[in-house]
Amino acid sequence: MLTVSTVSDLRSGRLSFAGTVGLVPTMGYLHEGHASLLREGRKRGDVLVLSIFVNPIQFGKNEDLDSYPRNMDRDCQIADACGVDIVFIPTAGEMYPDGFQTGVTVRDLSLPLCGTSRPGHFDGVATVVTKLFNIVRPDVALFGRKDYQQLAVIRRMTADLNMPVEIMGMPIVREADGLAMSSRNAYLSPLERQSALCLSRAVKRARELFAAGERSVAVLAGETRAVIEQEAAAVVDYVEFRDGATLQESDVADVGTLLALAVKIGQTRLIDNTVLGEDL
Ligand code: AMP
Repeated sequence: MLTVSTVSDLRSGRLSFAGTVGLVPTMGYLHEGHASLLREGRKRGDVLVLSIFVNPIQFGKNEDLDSYPRNMDRDCQIADACGVDIVFIPTAGEMYPDGFQTGVTVRDLSLPLCGTSRPGHFDGVATVVTKLFNIVRPDVALFGRKDYQQLAVIRRMTADLNMPVEIMGMPIVREADGLAMSSRNAYLSPLERQSALCLSRAVKRARELFAAGERSVAVLAGETRAVIEQEAAAVVDYVEFRDGATLQESDVADVGTLLALAVKIGQTRLIDNTVLGEDL
């Protein structure tokens, strides 16, 4: 496995491999969710590239950029075990040298949900993913549905800008007790880890109600929110039901309606989601 930190080393390294290229962009501190993307990427392309970059421009002023968990040695072991060919670990200076001033905005899809709580977040994501696509030139790039809105933004951007890359969305990988895997789970104390189960419980409750025939978004949202609010340590950021493709609001849920939620457990902001009527 080749480990590189500059754009020019990535480009020359890539030339020593032949065939189609798969890319898995991450912020590192890898877990089974990332590994599931890497394993699928291994099958999808001849060459598998993993990028690890805690992208400063997608973090807000009071967010966790400095404290974001990092463990490069462990990440490289996991990458190696998943069959990664090239790991790209650029510095912030390599990605955003002095004078950098260009951004990519996906207008409407970036506004609701996490875009409201984290203004500018998806501009940062769209910009770094565009850069990674231009640097690596993948044939296929894999993203998790855990970050549903991010995947929607990237799909839109890729289509709108005719980027020659196939985008694959992969299922959410969960811990045995239901908690969606996330690098940020490392922030949770043992007690908070228990409290965090309210997110997946809320998702489960909404799916059950929908399966039993409930279609009123007001009822579904009320019941889902109530599950979270039973947990004293949880503070709801948002609980929203929206069209899974456009992210527009609707009063009536249907197959394909997205439930997206963001909840603070202590200092840690966690997200989860599900698409109603879709198999898990
Ligand atoms: P991150 O390192 O958190 O930026 O995530 C990198 C990629 O891994 C993104 O495409 C995420 O959606 C995906 N990912 C993170 N957690 C999970 C999970 N629990 N299941 C599936 N994919 C995930």
